[in-house]
This record gives sequence, C-alpha cells and structure tokens, in this order.
Amino acid sequence: MNFNRTDSFGRTVDYLRISITDRCNERCLYCLPENYADWLPREEILSYDELLAIVRATTAMGFKRFRVTGGEPLIRAGVVEFIRDLIATPGVESVSLTTNGTRLPQLASALFNAGLRRINISLDALDPTVYRAITNGAVRSVIHGIKLVKELGFDSVKLNTVLMRGRNDGEIFRLLDFAAEHDIAIRFIELMPVSLTEMLSEKNFFPIAELLAQLRQADDPQPLNESFGFGPAKYFRLKKRGVTVGLIGALSDLHFCERCNKMRLTCDGKLRPCLGNHLETDLKPALRPQIEVAHLHELICEMLAQKPSEHLFRNNYQPQRVMTAIGG
Ligand code: SAM
Repeated sequence: MNFNRTDSFGRTVDYLRISITDRCNERCLYCLPENYADWLPREEILSYDELLAIVRATTAMGFKRFRVTGGEPLIRAGVVEFIRDLIATPGVESVSLTTNGTRLPQLASALFNAGLRRINISLDALDPTVYRAITNGAVRSVIHGIKLVKELGFDSVKLNTVLMRGRNDGEIFRLLDFAAEHDIAIRFIELMPVSLTEMLSEKNFFPIAELLAQLRQADDPQPLNESFGFGPAKYFRLKKRGVTVGLIGALSDLHFCERCNKMRLTCDGKLRPCLGNHLETDLKPALRPQIEVAHLHELICEMLAQKPSEHLFRNNYQPQRVMTAIGG
C-alpha cells in the first residue's frame, strides 16, 4: 500500500509523540490545575502492545522519529522494556524521551542499556525553593539524573525550561551556566495555553524576544544554522559562556508551524495533528477488540490530511484537555 506522509500544506510529517500516561509525579503550576484529579481510568490507557501496533502502522507510512512522553513517562511500569521494543521496531530511526528527570537516578542506566540515546529533561529552575514552588518537587534528584545521563554518554541531552515572568526569569543565567558547565544544550519555551491553570496569563508570559535581548546584553549569541533535533527551536551559541541555547517561540514566532513535522498520540489513543487545536480522532476502534491495521492506516491518513496550517494559540484558544493528557 502506498501512503503519503505529506500534509495538505506540503509539510513532511514523520514524527510521532507518544504519551504513555496522563499521570505525573509533579504538579507544575503551568501544567496541571490545583487539585486536579481527573486522571483517566486505567482501562482507557493504551497497552504497550497497542502503542507498538500504532507505531508499526505509522512506520509503514514512513514515520521515522518517535518521542515517548506523558504525563511523566518514567512513572509507568514497563517503560524501559517498551522503549527497547520501540527502538527495535523496523522503520524506527530515532527514539527520544521527554522526562521531568526525577526518576532518572533509578532508571538512566536501564534506559541506556535498552538503547535509548536521546533525552530531554525539563528543568524550570535550579534554586530548590523556586523549583519546588513551580513543580512541587525536589530539584536535587533531577540534577543527579542529569549528571548521570551525561556520564553514561547519551548522544543527545537537552534541558527544557518553560519561561514564566515573575517565577523563573531570575533563574535564566544560572540555568545557562549550569548547562555550560555540563556541556548540555538548553531550550527556553514560551508558555502555551495548553491547560487551565492560573499561570497561563499574559502577566506570566515571557516572550523569547525579551530573552534574546537579555542574551545579547550579557553574552554574544551567534545564530546556528544546524538544527539540534527535529523540533521548532531556533538555536544560538553563546560565545562567552560556550553553551547552545534553543528558543521556542511557540506563540510569538509567526513561522512556528511552517516546518511542523509532528502528530501526537494521547495515552488513551487519540491522535492529534496539532497541539493547539481540538481536532483529534480516536484510534481505539481500530485497536479493540482486535487490532485492525487497515483501519489504523485509514484513521491516521484522515488526521494527516486535516493537519491545520497553524495552531490556534493566538486566537483565544481554550484547552479542553490538560497537557498531561495530551502529552507534551
Ligand atoms: N513529564 C515530562 C516532563 O516534565 O518533561 C513530560 C511531559 S511535559 C507535559 C512535556 C514538556 O511540556 C515539559 O518540558 C513541560 O515543561 C512542557 N509544558 C507543560 N506545560 C506547558 C505550557 N503550558 N507551556 C509550555 N510548555 C509546557
């Protein structure tokens, strides 16, 4: 069967982000509303076998790159074996993981032994009090985890920091120094309206342009042409500090969606062609009671054909699912 993985705007879509759980062991104040308890029932969550059937359906269409995320992927039992099986799936060329890093001290070696070589770790602050105020967690284990993945020799390690005015804008240069010291690229992400929390207000929004102006004052950012990964970040090398910085202007960059190559799979089997759009289709009818490959292909192609030209974040977008449910 011949599939076309080019969307109606000419973009090649070959990257699937797979959320394996909606649960998280942290409660980042920009991600989950306070007292959130709307977790999906266990039977709604796709099994690893179902996830791998979807992966096979997409590789048959030419998808090559996969990211495992959540919720917090490292709190789901069996994640290491799943990643090993994902890496071994024919047609899969790249597997990466996005994690808050809290369970890396226990799992980093096993993940490395399973063949994982690419990892993004969320780190919104280094100061323990600031970190706890944002995530409700302890930064110490995350830092331990980061050092461990560097020692193990992962090929690609990146830090992700969501910028929030008045919350972690005082941490920017400390984070840059930390990244420089450990020779890790760090990406700063604009706050997106992807869940219903108080943090997602204009007041907390910190645009990438303002960060770049600060970097120009304090350092010498040189634009890099090469892309570190497959995402929408614009990369700079800070000459004085000797560190690579990625800027993700999800809202302010008007060209943000032009090279979008992704689809997203929620942990309960909804396929989404765009993070900032409510459009999704349920893949479960093609998975239960038994896996029907042709039906899977049909649903995936339908979503690909409807992939919007750009997200709706700038149009007073009101999320209907929190980001842990969609998968970041
Ligand atoms: N639990 C994992 C983690 O913390 O990396 C994976 C899931 S998390 C939803 C994925 C990424 O999305 C994290 O880097 C997180 O900081 C980011 N994120 C969550 N809510 C966001 C928002 N409102 N705006 C921008 N990024 C957000």
